[in-house]
Amino acid sequence: MTSVIELISPAAEAEPRAVASEDWRRFEGYVGEIFTALGMDLSAPGTRETPHRFLQALRDATAGYDGDPKLRTVFASERPPAVDGSHSQIIEGPIVFHALCEHHALPFFGVAHIGYIAGPEIIGISKLTRLVRLYARRFTVQERLGEQVADLLEELVRPRGVAVRLEAAHLCTQMRGVAEHESRTVTTFWRGLYDERAELRAEFMAEIGSRR
Ligand SMILES: [Zn+2]
Repeated sequence: MTSVIELISPAAEAEPRAVASEDWRRFEGYVGEIFTALGMDLSAPGTRETPHRFLQALRDATAGYDGDPKLRTVFASERPPAVDGSHSQIIEGPIVFHALCEHHALPFFGVAHIGYIAGPEIIGISKLTRLVRLYARRFTVQERLGEQVADLLEELVRPRGVAVRLEAAHLCTQMRGVAEHESRTVTTFWRGLYDERAELRAEFMAEIGSRR
């Protein structure tokens, strides 16, 4: 029988951010000043609202700080807990994500692959996507993003092992100076059984390699 587990995670339950409208208007003024100084003509029909749209886009791109109440429920696995020896992996991905690097506030984006070895609970692909986006839609770095996804997945489903692999392109390096157009940064995190067993890591890598 499948049961629903209610879980309250501080990360998922964050209060939506509030910015007073007078502050927002002031910010639009600052952004307009910066864009003008950098060369934008704010008097054209296409750019007049650009500071407003820019801030709105920035707010949307960082919506992870608002939390995600839909991450509250996970479903208990139907798999009998007594079945042992079956260290079968649940592997999901690619999950597309977009984040802002905290060093330059410019986007880095790519795909996440997540693997776990189920303990008492499982979690659906849509929740895993939400989990990745909860932390990706912030000012962050790729290493922390991977750690946070692994941490919350452990908290949500108490798995026996977690693997998180992120592969991303960073616009802060690609748009400026050394133009390394094709470079990708890969980070991988292993927890629990994945940390202990090389064959699980190999299986995970082979599986996601076949999906890319
Ligand atoms: Zn950067």
